[in-house]
Amino acid sequence: MDPIINAVLKPKSIAVIGASTNPEKIGYKVVENLKNCGYQNPVYPINPGAEEILGYKCYPNIKDVPYVIDAAVITVPAKFVPEVVRDAGEKGVKGLSIITSGFSEVGDVALENEVVSIAHEYGMRIIGPNIIGVLSNSDNMNASFTNFLPLDGKAALVSQSGALLIAMDAATYTRRVGFDKMISIGNQADLDFADLIAYLNEDENTTCITLYIEGIKNGARFMEEARKCTKPIIALKAGTSAHGAAAAASHTGSLAGSAKVYEAAFQQAGVSQAEDLNDMFDTTLALALQPTMKGDNLLIVTNGGGVGVLATDAAEKYGLPLKFAPEEVQAELRKHMPSFGSAKNPVDITGGAGLEGYYEGVKYAYAHPWVDGLAVLYCETSVTNPQEIAEAIYNSIQESGATGKPVAVSFIGGERCEAAMKWLIEHDIPTYNAPDLAVKALASLRKQNEMLATSHNAPYKPTDVDGAKAREIIAAARAKGRDALIEVEAKHVFAAYNLPVTPTELAKTEEEAIQLANQIGYPVVMKIVSPDILHKSDAGAVKVNLKSDDDVRNAWKVIMENSLKYKADAEIDGMAVQQMAPWSTEVIVGSVNDSTFGPTLMFGLGGIFVEVMKDVTFKVAPIDENTALNMQSEIKASKILKGARGETPRDQKALANVLAHYSYMIYDLKDEIAESDANPVIVYEDGKGVAVVDARIILTKK
Ligand code: ADP
Ligand code: MG
Repeated sequence: MDPIINAVLKPKSIAVIGASTNPEKIGYKVVENLKNCGYQNPVYPINPGAEEILGYKCYPNIKDVPYVIDAAVITVPAKFVPEVVRDAGEKGVKGLSIITSGFSEVGDVALENEVVSIAHEYGMRIIGPNIIGVLSNSDNMNASFTNFLPLDGKAALVSQSGALLIAMDAATYTRRVGFDKMISIGNQADLDFADLIAYLNEDENTTCITLYIEGIKNGARFMEEARKCTKPIIALKAGTSAHGAAAAASHTGSLAGSAKVYEAAFQQAGVSQAEDLNDMFDTTLALALQPTMKGDNLLIVTNGGGVGVLATDAAEKYGLPLKFAPEEVQAELRKHMPSFGSAKNPVDITGGAGLEGYYEGVKYAYAHPWVDGLAVLYCETSVTNPQEIAEAIYNSIQESGATGKPVAVSFIGGERCEAAMKWLIEHDIPTYNAPDLAVKALASLRKQNEMLATSHNAPYKPTDVDGAKAREIIAAARAKGRDALIEVEAKHVFAAYNLPVTPTELAKTEEEAIQLANQIGYPVVMKIVSPDILHKSDAGAVKVNLKSDDDVRNAWKVIMENSLKYKADAEIDGMAVQQMAPWSTEVIVGSVNDSTFGPTLMFGLGGIFVEVMKDVTFKVAPIDENTALNMQSEIKASKILKGARGETPRDQKALANVLAHYSYMIYDLKDEIAESDANPVIVYEDGKGVAVVDARIILTKK
């Protein structure tokens, strides 16, 4: 555990620099909150004009305090911050929370950088600036200007928005989602999400890390720390409209949007993504209180058929479709319900079920090895008492002898239900007021388990690649002053990463084209080679299925005419002559350099699927072949690859190999490749491989 971060989050003493005697001022509020919320360690208000504040002795300068100080909370105006940070450094303070605003968020990056470099000179770390402060129930510490600590619990919130943190602090009580810590990180000038994930992973009071994110500064570090983290992380990402789409020099560029890349990065790093604020609270509740779900067998126990159906629908929607329980489970459950009940799944113990039904049914089901996760639903009835049902559910789980699998509960009813739900949550059972939410909570726990299984894998690194050769080709193109590779060069780069490109050579003259066509063998394809014509078929500059020398002569003439018609002053290097690959299913593979996460792979089916439906999926590079197989299932048109309408399945394994190698290529060459695509890649029947027939690489600016 980082001792400096620990000094800010669990300080043994705090100075408040800018403490005030004016109750309207933040510098007063922080001292007041520390006092009122019961902070037990010494507090030193720093203010040259006051003797004492709220009973704490005041000092004119932090350097005048004759005791050791762990953390300083800074509230002085921005222009004084560098000076007081230096004072704190001189004093030997370990870490700082800078509440003051007026830095990079208003454009003053220089002032922010200055403050960070002064802090680092003294080995101090900073949370902020532009924050609300830090709150911790386990330390009775409210070092912030929001008035009270959150409802006590096991989650930790790290929020980039201060206003939202204040609102959530209050909302924890009405939503009954408990937090041990709430940390406002503001501008992340120094400590960022990655640092706090690393810290909270080792914090004994945290079981679930909840993030409100507007922007991540260093995507690779975020992913690395999230991957290392053994606790569940849930992130709500705000600002999901596209910003990262590079200029549309290739199809990939226009399709990439940072929202999709964030989504991919979260999933690859094992971070659950919340849909919205409600979902963030609901999922936090489940992840903080319950273990992950190790298998797909979800059992639902209900006293109402209707809510059972709603829960069943939700199970399918959230990726945990119900299966019938094994016969032996059904037989046992039948003993605890009226004859008109149903023991299949959902298990309907009926409205006639009382305490005994819930107690025995839940106890047996929870303990049975077939059950991986249990949802218990209850509709208020006139013959049952919700509090007694709640206790029966809790006791049955406690007494079942089983542990390590999740349970989630839903109560539907009135005020008596409200009270019973509160009781269940206080006993660590996530309880919701709708059946779908209980099921969704379990689905989140299942997803966490699945993500954790892959997110810890070492990054993919193939051995059958020749990066040096690829760099030579790129260097040669750069030497000619080009910022994009022509198709022949791009294919050679692809080939260096063992991608199955169709053999392609550059012909400078018509005669050379004929010679090459004979070498390669008919039929061939010919395309213009020009740095000015990136979308070749748009210019009528691709001719396929050329079967003879005459065809080649004719194609040369037509392609040349069309190209000059398209762009009269186009620089023309010649024509690419290449093997004609038989037609089959076309897919597109491409890449962008995302501003946050770096080289990112894109995949979709070719043609209208990409251009009209935007049916594409992203992964942060590199990815292994397993992830590449999953990627193929993520597109809506994935059925086409799996073999729709009686067609034979496509060679998904060979495609996975291409995706993995491609991802490694863009990762390995991230300083050289700004954007690229292989459009199309032709995917043949299972066992027959794939062919990359077009290649485009846009180079990074240097
Ligand atoms: P561009 O994308 O610049 O318009 P392509 O090289 O992708 O040009 O060629 C256009 C189309 O021609 C491709 O989508 C593909 O259907 C077909 N094609 C190109 N090269 C080959 C080849 N070697 N074998 C078979 N078909 C090809
Ligand atoms: Mg193409």
